[in-house]
Amino acid sequence: MNAPLPAQVLKQHLIDPEICIRCNTCEETCPVDAITHDSNNYVVDPDICNGCMACVPPCPTGSIDNWRLMVRSEAYSVQEQFGWEELPKEKALPVVEEATAAGLSGAASDDASDDASEGAAPPSAQAAFTLPGASVPPWSAAHPYVNLYTHKAPMTATVVGNYRVTGADTESDIHHIVLDFGELPFPVLEGQSIGILPPGVDAQGRPHHARQYSLASPRDGERAGYNNLSLTVKRVTEDHGGAAAHGVCSNYLCDLAKNDTVQVIGPFGHTFLMPNHPRANLIMICTGTGSAPMRAMTERYRRRMDTGENGKLMLFFGARTERELPYFGPLMKLPRDFIDINLALSREPGQPKRYVQDLIRDRAGQVRDLLADRNTCIYVCGLKGMEVGVLDALRDVTMQAGQDWSILHDVLRREGRLHFETY
Ligand code: FAD
Repeated sequence: MNAPLPAQVLKQHLIDPEICIRCNTCEETCPVDAITHDSNNYVVDPDICNGCMACVPPCPTGSIDNWRLMVRSEAYSVQEQFGWEELPKEKALPVVEEATAAGLSGAASDDASDDASEGAAPPSAQAAFTLPGASVPPWSAAHPYVNLYTHKAPMTATVVGNYRVTGADTESDIHHIVLDFGELPFPVLEGQSIGILPPGVDAQGRPHHARQYSLASPRDGERAGYNNLSLTVKRVTEDHGGAAAHGVCSNYLCDLAKNDTVQVIGPFGHTFLMPNHPRANLIMICTGTGSAPMRAMTERYRRRMDTGENGKLMLFFGARTERELPYFGPLMKLPRDFIDINLALSREPGQPKRYVQDLIRDRAGQVRDLLADRNTCIYVCGLKGMEVGVLDALRDVTMQAGQDWSILHDVLRREGRLHFETY
């Protein structure tokens, strides 16, 4: 006979190491710092996680959404999880009389997200945390495919182009890289990303984890009708603090030659997607390689310029100088009545420093008019640090007109009209 256990049953939150692409989004999102990582895995500390679910919608792969009913004293520790190459099999829970009485069925679920939000987190913990952007796509976005190719079964793509898109004399080495998938399907949408598996192993002798890159081309290919896509990759030669560093994947990608092959996983992303209905307006705000999804969306609109279906495009693009701004030449050739371009240069000799948030304030009237139109979606992509500045600028332009930013911000999030992708 099974002895009853104390009511110490835990719905343990786990991250699937086979699908996780180590993008750090969950760790950055977790409001209680329950998520941590080592060089192998991202893991959830069972002693801290309150099941608030804040990390689930932003995860691009869905690897975050795994749950096990566990006897609390047997919960997988952080150290155990660091060593995993795959999720452990579910264990049958012993008969748990008190737990059953408390409403838990005793059958462990592989995907308990639906009910994990119930009862797991104190309501205050959920209410206290709000994402800066939406966790849903715009209502008219096309259906995205995600996780078609995984670490276990990646896709091989062939490099058909790789060239620098920033001035050769600048420190910023950004490449436009075109990958071809041959006969195999790789359906994507603008705003999605893919994972690249760099060859070789890390300092612990384990295969390098995948790095994520946004698509720079529209859904019908870098070249319309071809089964290819493009990326905008910055060669990482120093870390975020400015110390010398050799980025594993970015250097690998920037050094690829034509006809080399690359292991690809994905696609990823189900919210940072463009609206699909006629006359939708886009406000695009980016810096550096954050221009990749903006290029994809702009090109989608450019290819259907003659249909009369396009809404307005307004771009705020920040870089240190014009020569460090990827795609500067082609961008400036676009007709002014097709796209309203605002360049913010922070280190152009002889010019005052300008950041994207300065230009948003300069163009307050036009930004407000677009924000007032429910057909407008806003996309922000680039360095993590730009989030606060952009939100402050949007708040200022709204409040100048006597409107309440907090109400508008909620509407934009709820309607899937404000999206951030920062890294
Ligand atoms: P690593 O070997 O991982 O890191 C080396 C060192 O550099 C570490 O100290 C690390 O902290 C630091 N470092 C890591 N990333 C950066 C960085 N971006 N700038 C400065 N220092 C860094 N990158 C692109 O170039 N183009 C994209 O379109 C793009 N899209 C992304 C989309 C998403 C959703 C995410 C999460 C990331 C995206 N990235 C993009 C970043 C990319 O995934 C890699 O993190 C980046 O290329 C660095 O990888 P690495 O292997 O070269 O560097």
